[in-house]
Amino acid sequence: MLREQLIEIYNSLLERFGPQHWWPGETPIEIIIGAILTQNTSFSNVEKAIHNLKSQNLLSPEKLYNTETEKIAELIRPAGYFNIKAKRLKNLLNWLLENYQGRLENLEPVDTTQLREQLLGISGIGAETADSILLYALQRPVFVVDAYTARIATRHNLIEPPFDYFQLQSIFQNNLSEDVQLFNEYHALIVRCGKEYCRPKARCAGCPLEKLPHNIKEQSF
Ligand code: SF4
Repeated sequence: MLREQLIEIYNSLLERFGPQHWWPGETPIEIIIGAILTQNTSFSNVEKAIHNLKSQNLLSPEKLYNTETEKIAELIRPAGYFNIKAKRLKNLLNWLLENYQGRLENLEPVDTTQLREQLLGISGIGAETADSILLYALQRPVFVVDAYTARIATRHNLIEPPFDYFQLQSIFQNNLSEDVQLFNEYHALIVRCGKEYCRPKARCAGCPLEKLPHNIKEQSF
């Protein structure tokens, strides 16, 4: 039942919006950096920050690791919270350099659950950022959930509040095939729907999910 509902939502979103081509980024390290920089800001600001790093030829784990935190902070200033985010980038790079010689290919043999635990152990990396890195940069079948997912899932009766990140994530992971491409596209479509229609004040008229059963009494997300 839940599986059918989830597939119906996915198909309706995909039919309307088409593929979202996530994650915007040319290389896995660029995607990882973007996942940290996008915390609390729009992606257009992230793109400016990444452009600055790129213009200094710093989009490699080793080069960034060897760059002073203050210089990184200055370059990523457009992404906001730049001092905090520079430290978070450094924390992640320290982990990557100290445990995996700075080479993303060395992560390949590591089991996804173990990798997730390691990412969550890095100061400043929360569940959504860790899962975005796992899915979009490292191609692991992990479903990313966020406030948009919570809002749509609640309004479409997929889950009853209160719930936490992992309970919401398991609704998708336990009912869909472990498919990186499906998880990639599904999360991107949810974000698109949340931005355009399923806002704190729902705009159901014209929404791709308008014809599916929903309840917008819950306005708390
Ligand atoms: S805007 Fe309305 S129809 Fe669209 S996802 Fe939200 S609750 Fe559903």
